[in-house]
Amino acid sequence: MPSLINEFIDLLLTEASDPKDPATIARRQGTRGLLKSLYMLALIDAGRAVPGATRESLVASIPRVNLATYERARASRGNGVCVVDAVDTEQACSACRMQIRPQRSVQLRSFDSVLGCEKCGCIFVTKDIAIETAREIAAVEKASAPKKPPPRL
Ligand SMILES: [Zn+2]
Repeated sequence: MPSLINEFIDLLLTEASDPKDPATIARRQGTRGLLKSLYMLALIDAGRAVPGATRESLVASIPRVNLATYERARASRGNGVCVVDAVDTEQACSACRMQIRPQRSVQLRSFDSVLGCEKCGCIFVTKDIAIETAREIAAVEKASAPKKPPPRL
């Protein structure tokens, strides 16, 4: 469970982060990439094939602490991640419907750190990541689908 002190430190980090600072940009891109890997892992665990990714390759790329959170939530709720709409001001966890506090919404939108639901424990993945991943999968599947023979005239 996130402690008050950790939350406070996270908040300070978000407040102090200059969005144009290369270190901040790199950290945020890293978090976004990690969330995407976790989302792909959740798809695979739900029985969906993800072109170019295997459970093993994803597990190897995800830090142990995040993987542990994911597996814990999956074991107790069936899902390790939950998709949330980061643009929505009235954000709620898609799994348990608990309202997300405004401060955490800001952190979620900025990708400053990996956040999970304080009630059900699933890792929050923003809707834009889910959409982006779905589009990429669809594009690969379309490109590798067998070509239809040309229509006869
Ligand atoms: Zn929840």
